[in-house]
Amino acid sequence: MLRPPIASLLFLPAVAFPVSAQRATGFGPDVRAVVSYDAPVIAITNVTVLDGTGSPARRSHTVVISGERIQAVGPAGSVAVPAGARIVDGSGHTLIPGLIGMHDHMFYTTPAGTSVQSNYSFPRLYLGSGVTTVRTTGSNAPYTELTLKAGIERGEVPGPRMHITGPYLISAGPVRYEGMYELADEAAARRVVRHWAEEGAEWIKVYTQISRAIFAAVVDEAHRHRLKVTGHLCSISFSEAVELGIDNIEHGLRTNSDYDPRKEPDKCPAGNFAALAALDMKDPRVAETIARMVKRGVPMTTTAVNEQLTPGRPGPDARTVEAMAPWIAAQEIKRRTNLDLPTPIGEIYPKMREIYPKSLQYERAFVSAGGVLGAGIDPAFGALPGFGNQRALELLVEAGFSIPEAVQVVTANGAKILGRLPERGTVEPGKLADLVLLRGDLATDPSAIRNPVTVFKGGIGYDSAKLIGSVKGQVGIR
Ligand SMILES: [Zn+2]
Repeated sequence: MLRPPIASLLFLPAVAFPVSAQRATGFGPDVRAVVSYDAPVIAITNVTVLDGTGSPARRSHTVVISGERIQAVGPAGSVAVPAGARIVDGSGHTLIPGLIGMHDHMFYTTPAGTSVQSNYSFPRLYLGSGVTTVRTTGSNAPYTELTLKAGIERGEVPGPRMHITGPYLISAGPVRYEGMYELADEAAARRVVRHWAEEGAEWIKVYTQISRAIFAAVVDEAHRHRLKVTGHLCSISFSEAVELGIDNIEHGLRTNSDYDPRKEPDKCPAGNFAALAALDMKDPRVAETIARMVKRGVPMTTTAVNEQLTPGRPGPDARTVEAMAPWIAAQEIKRRTNLDLPTPIGEIYPKMREIYPKSLQYERAFVSAGGVLGAGIDPAFGALPGFGNQRALELLVEAGFSIPEAVQVVTANGAKILGRLPERGTVEPGKLADLVLLRGDLATDPSAIRNPVTVFKGGIGYDSAKLIGSVKGQVGIR
């Protein structure tokens, strides 16, 4: 259910916004316990701003928050600090828009391959790490996630703004996917999409095994109800999905079957990873797929954090191990060690060593050609909510994006894909005050993304350390 357009808000003078925002005093105890700033007017002074538009950093700025919105942004001296404002000294800090996570599940795939619904730890990790908006992008339990979203909106549960997707949709086929819904035919596709539209889903997620005919019915029915469709593809190639009207494509290169010469219609080709490992990035078909996506305005979601599946990439850091239940941490360290052996053990996606650097190039080429790239995490193994969203920024820089461009991908581009750019995604007057105050200088050091101090959502400041601290040892349990 999409809300009516709110683009007109942008053109109102900032002073016209009523200070009627939700205040923390009306929140439940779990939320009040992690609030650090709750004042009608807050002024962050002397701060470096990376505003999410891709513009270079601006130094020594003042950002005024009034109620739930940003009222003013400008150089110190040009922006008056309102009398009575709560002052936050931003010296030595960077302010960015809240991160917008475009593949941010509420379930955790453990190193043992089991799935744990994580409605306690995940919302806290997301918000504490600076993620103020998530799209769930696939769910094993969409009803519990609707309840979680309602709890967050009522101020009972600390967490990000949520955009719900329905259950994973697939066709019957050679692989049985527990936890996903098999659509028997086109009528079933339409019925299920209508159902989730009524229940409050905004997106539909299709998974690797789906026929073109059933997919076309999903897309048509979704669009009739103003829902959008995204997919982790395989049986349908990127080019086919674009022709059939998909609204977003997940994961990038490793899920594209356009380049496998043995691809048969409606089937996921068994040798796709070998085809991708052998792919020459100068092959004209690469630019062709990208041009097709750009022409039809289909955005792509990077989940480069699936370096988790790639031998030779970094293992879990200390904070990740701390957040995990001890046996989960032990499993992950073992999984990582086995993956890094000369002959990896337990490799899920073979040939990732060859495919991974190409997938970074693919994402860079997509943006260079004019594509809109968003970023998500796909929490699994050692990639945890929030920490993984931060890591996405570092990986974009590794892929060749400038730091301001990388900030844009993890913030404004997500808002754009969600159709919420008029209200979120950049540090501009009139927008919701969803902001992250980071210790350090993100403009020169991408790793500063790991240091949120305060995360503002709707003008209320949340204590990052308290949120992260509250989930110690909980990942893999709840
Ligand atoms: Zn996923």
